[in-house]
Amino acid sequence: MNPAYEALLEKSREQIAFLKRQLKYLSRFDIKNFDHIVAAFHDEVFADIDCLDCANCCRVNGPVFLDTDIRQVCKQVGLDRESFVQDSLQINPEGGWRLREPGCQFLASDNRCSIYDDRPKHCQSYPHTHERRMAKGLERLVQTCGVCPAAYLIALKIIERFAQGNTK
Ligand code: SF4
Ligand code: SF4
Repeated sequence: MNPAYEALLEKSREQIAFLKRQLKYLSRFDIKNFDHIVAAFHDEVFADIDCLDCANCCRVNGPVFLDTDIRQVCKQVGLDRESFVQDSLQINPEGGWRLREPGCQFLASDNRCSIYDDRPKHCQSYPHTHERRMAKGLERLVQTCGVCPAAYLIALKIIERFAQGNTK
């Protein structure tokens, strides 16, 4: 991983209590245009972050698969659905399926996704900062900050923008 991204993740872990407190506080407010504001922060941050220099989410988390994702991926790579589920997946407590072991088997050595065009929806929307009802996703963002350097930078932008209760 790019050393600058590693440094961001280390800072994020050091600041976890601060991030948790601030984002939990903001999740109580119904902030006007909040989704659009966060989506703009997402775009700004990802203009400077190269996921091919990182791939930490694929290495640490891997995807959440819905049934449609499993069908699509198995079709794409020629796997038998039942064997794939039995050999590689376990039920995800929050819904769908996740890998039994950390580290996605579809991640290539050059950090590319070998099933990029058919990757699960969860991968497509990660780190989930370009979504609707973002206020409800702020607590999840705290966890994501420990894995994704971009999520950490987005969280800092949110906190800076709405610091000191400036929720108008
Ligand atoms: S499916 Fe592709 S994008 Fe998703 S975690 Fe695996 S390597 Fe990463
Ligand atoms: S989404 Fe985040 S964790 Fe995943 S590769 Fe991009 S910067 Fe890294």
